[in-house]
Amino acid sequence: MNQDTTKIPQATAKRLPLYYRFIKNLYSSGKQRVSSKELSEAVKVDSATIRRDFSYFGALGKKGYGYNVNYLLSFFRKTLDQDALTKVVLIGVGNLGTAFLHYNFIKNNNTKIEMAFEVDEKKVGTQISDVPVFHLDDLEEKLLGHDIEVAILTVPASSAQNITDRLVSSNIKGILNFTPARLTVPDHIRVHHIDLAVELQSLVYFLKHYSEDDTEMSQDGIITE
Ligand code: ATP
Repeated sequence: MNQDTTKIPQATAKRLPLYYRFIKNLYSSGKQRVSSKELSEAVKVDSATIRRDFSYFGALGKKGYGYNVNYLLSFFRKTLDQDALTKVVLIGVGNLGTAFLHYNFIKNNNTKIEMAFEVDEKKVGTQISDVPVFHLDDLEEKLLGHDIEVAILTVPASSAQNITDRLVSSNIKGILNFTPARLTVPDHIRVHHIDLAVELQSLVYFLKHYSEDDTEMSQDGIITE
């Protein structure tokens, strides 16, 4: 994200890509303005939160008019750096890693997995959806001069910390960690942890123990602050 956004609270910043996706769709369908109520229903964030979030973006909705879609779109584009390509490296070409290589984010935004790393000799040297798979031994050498600052980690938990240390030494600034391991990193490195098994368990727990009213509007990670 660019520097103008350093004042935006983290919880708001996390919702930015969600807003961006919806506003982009509105723009494509030719809509010029949108009310906070419409936004709220579409993205499932309550309208008070939306109004507060949008005030940080300098977007002041007018009563009876709503928000200007053009303004929002250009703000989100700029803030999320959508004009620049974000290059990503993926480590661990197992089931999950392979799925990410096939998906490769390019339809949604300007994010692209440039290269992948593996230790399994059967996978090393192959290409999956045009992404080359290299041996982990060559990580530092291959990353050199590639301007890649983001890594996706889909290796077994037991290798996660060791690989993380190597990524940090190779100038990686952000890690999307899909392993169950809790990673230790220096302060300037950002780790987002997505443990799919835990998320699923927590969903099932909520279904069992909380009534419908309690769970209304609770898109976890998006609503909670
Ligand atoms: P997934 O959990 O992604 O569905 P999986 O069940 O197929 O994958 P895992 O054992 O979790 O397999 O390993 C994921 C991938 O990471 C495998 O392809 C494995 O060869 C690879 N891998 C294991 N150790 C390392 C390592 N140190 N560096 C890079 N890749 C590794």
